[in-house]
Amino acid sequence: MNALANPNFVLMVEGLTVSFDGFKAVNDLSFYVEPNECRVIIGPNGAGKTTVLDLICGRTRATSGKIAFKGQDLTQMREDQIVHAGVGRKFQNPSVYEDLTVFENLEISYPRGYSVLGALVFRRDAEVTARIREIAGMIFLDDMLDERAAILSHGQKQWLEIGMLLIQDPELLMLDEPVAGMSVAERRKTAELLNRIIADRSVIVIEHDMGFVADIATRVTVLHQGKMLSEGSMAHVQADPKVVEVYLGH
Ligand code: ADP
Ligand code: MG
Repeated sequence: MNALANPNFVLMVEGLTVSFDGFKAVNDLSFYVEPNECRVIIGPNGAGKTTVLDLICGRTRATSGKIAFKGQDLTQMREDQIVHAGVGRKFQNPSVYEDLTVFENLEISYPRGYSVLGALVFRRDAEVTARIREIAGMIFLDDMLDERAAILSHGQKQWLEIGMLLIQDPELLMLDEPVAGMSVAERRKTAELLNRIIADRSVIVIEHDMGFVADIATRVTVLHQGKMLSEGSMAHVQADPKVVEVYLGH
């Protein structure tokens, strides 16, 4: 059996290390994400959280260690190959096309096919439209399909960008601080959205808002100076004296 393929886990990270001029931003990190899990990564600024996502999505190359996604070693793949394999990544700031409508933003994110001659084919057929409407409903924007993205609130733009990833049907979705700048009501709806998303896929979220973390986390991984400080249920990590000392106590 392929040692990278383990049906119990969507993602296996083992001994992951990246060194920037001798500084280990991520240092011998191992963790395992199950299907339908929402894993939240927390930790102080500079702990290496964003770098972990950069390593998984291929933006940063690992110095050593292994990242296995459904039997494939992501450390050997390019960013576009990793997206194609089924890993979606959302960065901190929303990047939607302001001049396009909500519908068009979702439409351009729909995975395109190629014709037999290799030309890019794009059809606005019933299937695509149905999928766009389904995603718009999930992200609370079904009444806004014909509005330009520019008029959306910050939170709605974040949801739209999540929708633009969902329409590509990733098996693993990674979100870096998705509720930063959101209102309390928007945070609550985002928690609802994430709980819907994990019915069909796994999610890794970096987050600081511990109330939000409690609403979404299957398990929590606490990073500190590039290493894992603690891991387990929200209750477990909250009660861990090491976590209180370096993070929650502040
Ligand atoms: P977090 O997201 O937990 O706040 P980061 O992953 O952004 O932390 O950063 C972890 C550490 O790695 C920081 O000290 C940061 O300055 C450093 N770092 C991140 N990316 C690079 C890079 N490309 N080159 C050099 N240092 C980096
Ligand atoms: Mg960060």
